Amino acid sequence: MIHLSSPHVHTPYCDGQSTAEEMVRSALRLGFVSLGFSSHARQDFDLKYALSEEGERAYIREIRGLQTQYRGRIRLWLGMERDFLSLSQRGPYDYVLASVHYVTCGAGTRVAVDGPPQLIQSCIREGFEGDGLAFAEAYYKTLGGYIRDYRPDIIGHLDLLVKHNAQHSFFDTSHPRYIAAARGAMAQAIQGCSLMEVNTGAIARAGALAPYPALPLLRYWKSLGGQVILASDCHHASQLDAGYEQGEALIRAAGYQKAAILGRHEELFEWCELA
Ligand SMILES: [Zn+2]
Ligand SMILES: [Zn+2]
Repeated sequence: MIHLSSPHVHTPYCDGQSTAEEMVRSALRLGFVSLGFSSHARQDFDLKYALSEEGERAYIREIRGLQTQYRGRIRLWLGMERDFLSLSQRGPYDYVLASVHYVTCGAGTRVAVDGPPQLIQSCIREGFEGDGLAFAEAYYKTLGGYIRDYRPDIIGHLDLLVKHNAQHSFFDTSHPRYIAAARGAMAQAIQGCSLMEVNTGAIARAGALAPYPALPLLRYWKSLGGQVILASDCHHASQLDAGYEQGEALIRAAGYQKAAILGRHEELFEWCELA
């Protein structure tokens, strides 16, 4: 079994709803063995989703304090979720979870791929001549290059861009161009990081049926030698392990016999056997 843990937790320092200590108390109630905080790193736009300069200092201080306060009861880690457009430096953090949330649609305009569907629609229309697959290709090209070059500790929600796709059919995820783009991104990414999260966040927050990434993509990741870590992308303390049954089932379905968790001691990661 996979011990309960998550490397992907947000707090009000970015767009989370529960305080860090509420998250820790929820983790203890659920029997988590470790927990990692991953505030959205500083950026100079969409400010309400990310750490401010002052907020980043307070965030680091608070998590370091909680690490001491809860030592011996649960291992806490200080991380950040860093977008390719983020400004934060890596230095103060125990680990970096790297994600891409934005696609550039034209001169000076960008859209959040998990943001309002009508904005994605107009980005595809105006930036990609109506070709949704070209939008997907742009996302994956950015992701693959970012991970290869930045070398984070964990890759975040690989196929986040499908969030609104079931309702809006922006692109066909079974199209050879889509599959080639996603596989190309993974082939690049694994040169910089071999650990990808299986992210259950959209199950709790958006009613999604399955975690990221989709099973065919996760199977390809495994064929490349990539490893996995279960993550809840949690924004509310009541949802710390939401979707974990589906997440673990997906990991098994992809053929994995072990998965990483954040370590309980000094090592950042340890491995759980899937019996
Ligand atoms: Zn994210
Ligand atoms: Zn997140």
